[in-house]
Amino acid sequence: MISLATPSAPKVGVLSLQGDFACHRASLESLGVEVRRVTLPRDLEGIGALVLPGGESTTMLRLLDATGLREPLEAFVRERPVLGTCAGVILLGMGGAGLPAPPLAVLDVTVERNAYGRQIDSFEAGLEAPVLGGPFHGVFIRAPRIVRVGKDVEVVARRSRGVDGGAGGEPVGVRAGRIVGLCFHPELTSDLRFHRWFLTEVAGLRLAAGETAAGRGAALAGGGAA
Ligand code: GLN
Repeated sequence: MISLATPSAPKVGVLSLQGDFACHRASLESLGVEVRRVTLPRDLEGIGALVLPGGESTTMLRLLDATGLREPLEAFVRERPVLGTCAGVILLGMGGAGLPAPPLAVLDVTVERNAYGRQIDSFEAGLEAPVLGGPFHGVFIRAPRIVRVGKDVEVVARRSRGVDGGAGGEPVGVRAGRIVGLCFHPELTSDLRFHRWFLTEVAGLRLAAGETAAGRGAALAGGGAA
């Protein structure tokens, strides 16, 4: 993939121990960001924000300890902007059953892993995302379910009401200050609005001209799964 990053492009890290980090990289590069793969403690230096991808939270937690990344990552997430998707939400949350090690515990939500069932029960669903000003197409792959939202946590995406049976209105995206957790995979769609919102509104980064509020991703809004 050819990077569109310019010399002044913001640097954003993507935790790349396991999971779909390459898809996040592609989304971020489409927004003109310089992406750094984070696999070692020194990779966290000098980045303006970090993405924790989907994948397998149990494997990622084990690898955090094996690579020595846990401590520097804990320090990073206490102070800097972080977006976690799917397994990333599990890493950011306060814990849940079946984890081999404690999560990072910076997002006051309780999640239930694999709550929608097995791989074959993965699904796509319409969402309401007030922070984006409207609907978003959610891709859920063995997704976690947010079963408790802390009092200082804002819900930024919900399952659309009325079309998904009893699940309508359920929170699937949350924000607490600089920390954002999404149970679905925006990096698997061509719709870049959640990435753009995180980078500009949450992390306060400046994107290259043409990749700000009304840029490319808005034009692609509503794109389906890749
Ligand atoms: N089920 C996975 C876990 O528990 C998450 C799946 C995903 O990230 N798509 O970590």
